[in-house]
Amino acid sequence: MAVVGIIPAAGSGERLGGSGPKAFVVCGGRPLLEWSLEVLDAVCDRVVVAVPAGTESAGGALGPEAGRDWVEGGSSRSASVRAALAGAPEATVVVVQDAARPLLTRELVERCVEAVAEGVDGAIAAAPMTDTVKQADADGRILRTLDRSTLWSIQTPQAFDAGALRSALAVDEEMLAAATDDASLVEAAGGSVRVVEASPENIKVTTPADLERAEALLRARGPLPSGQRPSC
Ligand code: C5P
Repeated sequence: MAVVGIIPAAGSGERLGGSGPKAFVVCGGRPLLEWSLEVLDAVCDRVVVAVPAGTESAGGALGPEAGRDWVEGGSSRSASVRAALAGAPEATVVVVQDAARPLLTRELVERCVEAVAEGVDGAIAAAPMTDTVKQADADGRILRTLDRSTLWSIQTPQAFDAGALRSALAVDEEMLAAATDDASLVEAAGGSVRVVEASPENIKVTTPADLERAEALLRARGPLPSGQRPSC
């Protein structure tokens, strides 16, 4: 089994309001991207990062001296995943992890990889829904209340059989852009995907408030990496 980690990190991060790409915004004393890199490095045989055009000259964790595998990202999240996967022909299992989720744990990645090894096409981290969820029309009128006991809030990591993910990503740019995660493409291609229960604290950093919350959660976990200071 050749397990390759893929980190889509090529988003602009406009909603975060910073000056550069979100993956490089400092949180908990290091760029967001580095939290996921550290965990995937510990579990995967290799990690490929999809970065925004121009990042390769920025140095740091992705500079030439760091010896990192990276590719230029695409115009959508799944296009970035496809570009990174093209750089990992040896992969038999792929773990996709958004750079925007710094609360990743090694244990969660391992549980997703194990589930794929047991025979599903995809195993994805998810937390049970705790809010009541309703569907509304364009005017805000409620159409129906969904059965919360069957609903999950989907996260990354998402682990896949590499062949199933490659086939699922072989669609046009429009379909890639419409996908909010990779599992939905595997599902659309007829693949079997299951959830792996995860903590709701495995949050995605989208807004400045998320960044503050992620910092607080990371701080609660224990000391920051040696020699690094909190930034937010
Ligand atoms: O925008 P959103 O928060 O959903 O992005 C999720 C992840 O996908 C982020 O880590 C972001 O850097 C990445 N992404 C990407 N290529 C894009 C858009 C987003 O790698 N074109």
